[in-house]
Amino acid sequence: MGRSRSKPSLKGLAQKYGGSVRKRYSRVYRLLKQKRQCPECGSLKFKRESAGIWVCGRCSFKVAGGAYDVAA
Ligand SMILES: [Zn+2]
Repeated sequence: MGRSRSKPSLKGLAQKYGGSVRKRYSRVYRLLKQKRQCPECGSLKFKRESAGIWVCGRCSFKVAGGAYDVAA
């Protein structure tokens, strides 16, 4: 994996909690906000509804997955 260009700003976690936690949080946060494709209709409105539950905003396809990523 190469180094990413610019990291998105992380609201609320400026100088808190120490480096390792922030690194972990930013990784998970980016994973969470990533655009995903619905396996059913191919739309990008596939989002996490709650921890472990992923739902498509277009066709309402719902699937159980990881807490922060569909396949974790
Ligand atoms: Zn869909």
